[in-house]
Amino acid sequence: MRTPVVAANWKMNKDLTEAKSLVSELLAGYQDAATEVYIAPPFVFLNEVNQHIKGSGMQLAAQNMNAVESGAHTGEISSSMLKSVGASTVILGHSERRDSYGETDAHINEKVKAALAAGIQVIFCFGEQLAERKSNTHFEVVQSQLASGLAGVTTEDYKHIILAYEPVWAIGTGETASPEQAQEMHAFIREYLRSEVGADVADQTRILYGGSVKPGNAADLFSRPDIDGGLIGGASLQAADFLAIVNAAS
Ligand code: PEP
Repeated sequence: MRTPVVAANWKMNKDLTEAKSLVSELLAGYQDAATEVYIAPPFVFLNEVNQHIKGSGMQLAAQNMNAVESGAHTGEISSSMLKSVGASTVILGHSERRDSYGETDAHINEKVKAALAAGIQVIFCFGEQLAERKSNTHFEVVQSQLASGLAGVTTEDYKHIILAYEPVWAIGTGETASPEQAQEMHAFIREYLRSEVGADVADQTRILYGGSVKPGNAADLFSRPDIDGGLIGGASLQAADFLAIVNAAS
């Protein structure tokens, strides 16, 4: 039995006042202990958000981190910095980091290993582009992203990894993979885990779907046997929508 997960990726949205008010609304409406909930605000609000959600059951996540621990890396944030402000988890490999900031599978793999070594759980994102789906190469693309991005990760490490399949063509576009398309890919990913790392890891690893999840489509997506929750972008910026999605996962 896998505990469902719903994670909010605020991306580069909200100022401090707006962030505090979104958190207050989330806290006012949040009641569900049956689903693990993560909030990933921009770096500058991590500490503030943590002060509010501490003890609520919701957990703090970061949207990125550097693989290096400290030093001359202007503008970057390390695992120990994240831990010091209460982040239990970090999102790595998001398609926006891959596409807009040139992060390669190898680069993401370094970050994954650094986060795990520091005791930070990883939400590992991956997914195909539209052209790759159209050319029917989406399964190989996903398999290759998993193999490279998670190279060197041990069976034990998988206890601290949540996978997030996010077809790039569905992120922020309003276009969602159909529940059938998403389930088909999630079943493929679970089968890949079974053959590569064994049945226990395959059965226990949570695989989230991300890509225009909304209150109206969440329940159908989450009812599929291999979809264990969602990584939510746009709809996480409105408390009512995000809470409705959290409830749909329970
Ligand atoms: C995301 O950023 O991970 C995401 C899934 O965004 P959206 O829900 O807006 O498609």
